Amino acid sequence: MTNPDPYLRGHGDTRYRVSHYDLKLTYKVAANRLEEKAQLYVEIAEATNRIDVDLHGLRVSKVFLDGRPAKYRHRGQRVSVDVGDRVPGNRFLLEFRVSGKPGPVPGVHGTAGWEELTDGSMVGSQPHGAPSWFPCNDDAADKATYRIEVTTEPEYHVVANGTLTDSTRSGATTTWTYVMDRPMAPYLATVQIGPYQTQRRRASVPVEVVHPQGLDVGRGTAFERQGEMVDLFCDLFGPYPFAEYRAVIVDDDLEIPLEAQGLSTFGRNLVEPEWENERLVAHELAHQWFGNSVTGQQLKDIWLHEGFACYTEWLWSDHRRKRGDGASVQERAAEHHAALGPTPEGSTLADPGMEAMFDDWVYKRGALTLHAIRALVGDSAFFDLLRSWTQEHAGATVSTDDFEAHCLRWAGSAGDQMDALLDAWLHRSEVPELPEVSDRG
Ligand SMILES: [Zn+2]
Repeated sequence: MTNPDPYLRGHGDTRYRVSHYDLKLTYKVAANRLEEKAQLYVEIAEATNRIDVDLHGLRVSKVFLDGRPAKYRHRGQRVSVDVGDRVPGNRFLLEFRVSGKPGPVPGVHGTAGWEELTDGSMVGSQPHGAPSWFPCNDDAADKATYRIEVTTEPEYHVVANGTLTDSTRSGATTTWTYVMDRPMAPYLATVQIGPYQTQRRRASVPVEVVHPQGLDVGRGTAFERQGEMVDLFCDLFGPYPFAEYRAVIVDDDLEIPLEAQGLSTFGRNLVEPEWENERLVAHELAHQWFGNSVTGQQLKDIWLHEGFACYTEWLWSDHRRKRGDGASVQERAAEHHAALGPTPEGSTLADPGMEAMFDDWVYKRGALTLHAIRALVGDSAFFDLLRSWTQEHAGATVSTDDFEAHCLRWAGSAGDQMDALLDAWLHRSEVPELPEVSDRG
């Protein structure tokens, strides 16, 4: 068994790790035609003579190992590469030549990955879509650095993860180069291509709203306070984990927004200044700390992403309230606690099951768990606990066990109560009583 995540069968391979991806894409927008050269810097983790690389729907024409042609077999979603007899610690460079018309990968929760837009394309890969556009070890715990180069028609603006290091027009194409120098899980890698403009926001880190030409994303929209949000979350959760943040608004409507490392993608249907939209703007930004920098080792740990991002919505609501418009955290907690039923049979928050992992109760029970911890330890210790969590595990992966151990360290003399609290919220079905946190006005 080489698959690392029981919720994601057929993805990932524990026999190797990738330290860096160098992806060179040439893309024709109208034809949705991709030509790609992908280099994977591989290190062997378990003795083997063969490794599996994930790739869906694209054709492999050549594979090179340290510059020499390698034997491989592409079946379904796996490219099995003959690597010779290898022992842990062996390193080599794998290069793939890939082409085709990329499209999303079907799954239990719908499709994910590369998606054509009315004019352009986008990638939203959580949880299983990364193989739709590059050969990868599709395991969230196998984080790597990335260089993503995209060559396309000059009328399009390209966004990928990280810092834009170059954008050069040459004849009938423009080449955009982005570098992500912090460890990134494959599902958080993305490319966004469209006829976009950019708008800067004042904040302590570079913040950009990328939007279709002619669409107003400024004053009086859900994105007006994107910069202020970044600064508030830096205060609450610790330093922003990456070099910059971008909110990309595509010209199509999207059912849900999606997080990627260093950016989030929204549909144009989320621009109106309603709470339901603004809470999603806050939610996706929160994933930069909880999910992208500090990533669940396995999908069963998804509440470490979604519970925290949902709680952040309530914290933003509380911040708005102090400016005269919004509900307090306690009011939000009470509203969702009242609507929360017992955890479905066979599920717990710590292991909801693959089918339930994106169910609303995971988000709300996760947020209420954080509220209960806050009620037990008090505001000052609670936010110290969150900040030390994001600092100690920045760029790494974590489990629910790690979070429980972290909370017990911060519980001081309330260790027994913390233990009981975590057990009740994370491992049992019944909904514990509503935790009370006093509003500070
Ligand atoms: Zn989320």
